[in-house]
Amino acid sequence: MQIHSAEFITSARGLPDCPAWDRPEFAFIGRSNVGKSSMINLLSNKYALAKVSATPGKTRLLNFFLMNGLWSLVDLPGYGFAQTARSGKFAFNEWVGDYLEQRANLRRVFVLIDSRLTPQRLDVDFTAWLGGTGVPFSLVFTKVDKQSVTKTRANIDLFQASLSQHLASVPDVLTSSTKTRAGRADILRRIAASLG
Ligand code: GDP
Repeated sequence: MQIHSAEFITSARGLPDCPAWDRPEFAFIGRSNVGKSSMINLLSNKYALAKVSATPGKTRLLNFFLMNGLWSLVDLPGYGFAQTARSGKFAFNEWVGDYLEQRANLRRVFVLIDSRLTPQRLDVDFTAWLGGTGVPFSLVFTKVDKQSVTKTRANIDLFQASLSQHLASVPDVLTSSTKTRAGRADILRRIAASLG
C-alpha cells in the first residue's frame, strides 16, 4: 500500500469524542520513547505528522489521522502514567482502555516494544490485557538497528515466554527500524489486509 495522503483530523478525550465516522481504525500504542512518533512519521511519509500528537495538551489524547482518505491511524497516549489511571483496572489512561475495549471501528492495534530491553512488566501486562479483549493486535519490536539480530531475537523470545503465562495464543510479531525503514511494509500490509 502506498500512502498518498495523511491528515490530522481531531484529538479525542474519550469515546464520546471520537469521530462519528465508519472509517476502519488502526491504533498505535507504546511506552514513551519507544519510537512511536518516529514510526508514525515513517508510515505517513510526513515527517511532521506525529508532532501534532506531541504538542502540549495532546499527549494524553487519542489523536486521529486520516490516511489516503480511507482509513484512520490512531495515535494513542503511552500507557506509562500509572498515577492517574483508575485504580484496580489498568495502569493506563482510562480513555484508552475504553477505546480499546469498545470502539467498533478498531481493526488492529500495533503495540510498540523496545527491542533492546528484556521484557518490561508494563508491556507484558498491557499486552496480556489487550489479548483478553479479543482485539487483533501485532507486537512491533522497534529500533532493531541498534543491536544484533541475535540480541533482538533473544528479547523477543523472552517477551513471548513472559506473555505465554497469560495468553494461550502466540501474537503476531514484527520488527522495525525507522533508520532502515524495516517493518514499514509489514505494518502497511497488515492494514491493507484488514481493509479487504
Ligand atoms: P516516542 O516517545 O515513542 O514517540 O519516541 P520517538 O519517536 O520520539 O523516539 C525516541 C527516540 O528514539 C528518538 O531519539 C528517535 O530518534 C529514536 N528512535 C526511534 N525509532 C528509532 C529506530 O528505529 N532506530 C533508532 N536508531 N532510533 C530510533
